[in-house]
Amino acid sequence: MNGVKIRVLSDEMASRIAAGEVVERPASVVKELIENSLDAGAQKIFICIEKAGSALIRVSDDGEGMAPADLALAIERHATSKLADDDALFRIATLGFRGEALPSIGSIARMEIVSRQVGAATGQLLRVDGGKKDELRTAPAAPGTTVEIKDIFFNTPARRKFLKTPATELSHICDVVNRMALAFPEVHFRLQHDGRTVADYVAVGDAKDRLYQVLGRDVAKGLVPFSSQHGELALSGYVSAVPISFPNTRYIYTFVNRRYVRDKVLTHALLQGYDTLLMRGQYPAVLLLLKIPFEEVDVNVHPAKYEVRFRHQSDIHEAVSRAVRQVLRQEAREPMLHPSSHSTTPFFRVGEAPVPYAIAPTSRYDQPTGREAVFLMPARTEMFSEPGFFSSLTVLGQILGCYLICASQQGLALLDQHAAHERVAFEKLRRQLDAGQVAQQSLLIPQSVELSAGEMMLVEHKRDVLESFGFTLEPFGPNAYAIIAAPALLPEGDYTQTVRQMVAELADVDTSAKLRQHLEERLATIACHSVIRANRKLEIDEMRALLRELDEIEFATQCPHGRPVLLEFSRDELERMFKRVV
Ligand code: ADP
Ligand code: MG
Repeated sequence: MNGVKIRVLSDEMASRIAAGEVVERPASVVKELIENSLDAGAQKIFICIEKAGSALIRVSDDGEGMAPADLALAIERHATSKLADDDALFRIATLGFRGEALPSIGSIARMEIVSRQVGAATGQLLRVDGGKKDELRTAPAAPGTTVEIKDIFFNTPARRKFLKTPATELSHICDVVNRMALAFPEVHFRLQHDGRTVADYVAVGDAKDRLYQVLGRDVAKGLVPFSSQHGELALSGYVSAVPISFPNTRYIYTFVNRRYVRDKVLTHALLQGYDTLLMRGQYPAVLLLLKIPFEEVDVNVHPAKYEVRFRHQSDIHEAVSRAVRQVLRQEAREPMLHPSSHSTTPFFRVGEAPVPYAIAPTSRYDQPTGREAVFLMPARTEMFSEPGFFSSLTVLGQILGCYLICASQQGLALLDQHAAHERVAFEKLRRQLDAGQVAQQSLLIPQSVELSAGEMMLVEHKRDVLESFGFTLEPFGPNAYAIIAAPALLPEGDYTQTVRQMVAELADVDTSAKLRQHLEERLATIACHSVIRANRKLEIDEMRALLRELDEIEFATQCPHGRPVLLEFSRDELERMFKRVV
């Protein structure tokens, strides 16, 4: 048991390792330390953070621990117990393998490792300060290992400066813990920040239970399991089949042999499995667990080990997209699957003014018909040079419950009533946002949104941002917020999806200008969807009111998704269509 397990890799071997900077931010330290704990077979991993990791990161585990000789070696470069021989690099079964994490961390912080091997009488303490190591000392300890990192980047002030706001760094840490926790449901993870428990995921027997712990009930309950076997490749996981979707890939978790990876092939395959169920710019929630023989995948390709290379990439792509398609198809037969307005929310940018002349297809449902030439709208200048263009139209009637037929000075004008309403709602909201005063309405019954640990932190620190967009949130238990007020412009309804999407944006974007833009997009999309969806017969007064409103806004000729609001046919065009002239 006390034989030395760690060895220093030969120079030749070390040079084959995709070296790189592993310590980019506090979350990278947390990731490396948790990986070590998992490799040591820990059942409990407790993470203690102070000041978002800039003051303290402590990871304690109940794993196998290190013998004194191993502990002394552990902080040497390229010292690892995980590569037994030179071939081992091609069939890596552990999360770590480079022997670089501890020395790298030790060189940019003050580090203390206390480890007691299972069966040993006492523990050993090793201190490393900015790369300088002390002698080993005996120290009381429970079996397992505790690594404590203080003052990260204290000796590299340039890097310290690059740290983002505490809320952002902390949410990265939460993300790391959540991903590890999803892959190892049988391990108890606890995350504390400044003395407060942020996440406490007790060991569970089932991946689904871990999904509830990590993602919260709202998201987890909509996930459907799947599994399939393709030779030596085993796929399993959960996909969102009910109409939940997100504005980014945040809720897509892909694991290869329990290692979290961001892999383009896997993500692409998943999304292909969804086919047309999701609108462009919307992403599902997915947990994909891939099991594959170790020699079929090269994990030694990325410094932070976030990417892998498959030997048979296209087979895997095919298997994944087929598995996803199959489970979604099965689900569709059950009554659950009805892509609602959430999942069909088209994506657009507030900043980009719609091009006034072109019919821009923004979604696969808005493909150009090939008849754009006929449907070109009047030039904008022309239209706005005459004040009250829309008011000047004579409404002749409404057809099909959604088009207004009008006589214009040029000839015939057709209006898409829904697109017009969208444009108006969007402009109103944008004006309120610009003026910094979004009118609010209090909710009679507060709506609770369950959030993950990381999201809770984000909301806690950025609640004012949501407030400026008209949403007032209050803490509601340890893992939820209650929405107590919403923008008045939105109709009454369920705002939890909206808030959830906005929180996802909070996590994704760090600069406030960009964040603002993203949130505007989010809210504007929702404003658009808030307008009369169904075909509805408008009274003549309502039609006139709508036209007046259109006159008051800019870019009234297109809905915010780029669909035209108005098509106008001049006498010339009508004559050409009827072949009176050629
Ligand atoms: P790697 O994980 O790539 O081997 P590290 O620098 O992260 O490199 O760790 C070096 C060695 O220290 C590991 O190979 C392992 O033997 C030992 N070690 C590190 N952390 C722990 C831990 N929490 N429990 C037991 N052994 C550990
Ligand atoms: Mg390691």
